[in-house]
Amino acid sequence: MTYTFPAPPVTAVPVQGSDAQFPVRNIYCVGRNYWAHREEMGVTDRDPPFFFTKVRDAIVYCAPGATVEIPYPPETSNYHHEIELVVAIGKEGANISKADAASHIFGYAIGLDMTRRDLQSQAKDKGRPWDNGKSFQYSAPMGEIVPIAKTGEIVDGRIALSVNGTIRQDAPMDEMIWSVSETIEDLSRFHTLYPGDLILTGTPAGVGPVVVGDVMEGSAENVGTLRVKIV
Ligand code: MN
Repeated sequence: MTYTFPAPPVTAVPVQGSDAQFPVRNIYCVGRNYWAHREEMGVTDRDPPFFFTKVRDAIVYCAPGATVEIPYPPETSNYHHEIELVVAIGKEGANISKADAASHIFGYAIGLDMTRRDLQSQAKDKGRPWDNGKSFQYSAPMGEIVPIAKTGEIVDGRIALSVNGTIRQDAPMDEMIWSVSETIEDLSRFHTLYPGDLILTGTPAGVGPVVVGDVMEGSAENVGTLRVKIV
């Protein structure tokens, strides 16, 4: 068997303390999962969680201590940071109960849901899909995956992001509206989750624009850090 052209490389993220890499399958993202961020987006209802996805080419691995460069994307003039806890799935399942959710988690990482906010806002106004605003190349920088065996279940601790040394986002992760377990329960009603799937669990308040030359430093307590420069 041959392919018509070379098959794309496997997108994979290193795992802390292991030579094996985590091969990425699907990338799910939770929308508006912290109250203060819902309010800054102009929404105050309490609906069930909702999801969107990102293309696999969104993943950019950020090694600990490295400054990783990503390009300012085309067709936007309002490019926003959203710092998020990333959950890495390690076991297949559908209709997973929240009580059983942790057994499906392989590990965690710190990540960014980079957003072309102007394109997302236009899509919202017209009732169109968010893809151009959310799902594009280099839009999901993330750090190494730390196995849950090392961290235990992450249910609290601070998540934060600074830009050029100034704190923009800083919140306790237990302020998520839908916990990681509840998110897995809900998402797995709609999609069978597979090993390799990633879930970006939503961002706290303080999202805002970055421009060429800006350096973002993100952290999630007991998970990791990343540093990304816009070029
Ligand atoms: Mn987000």
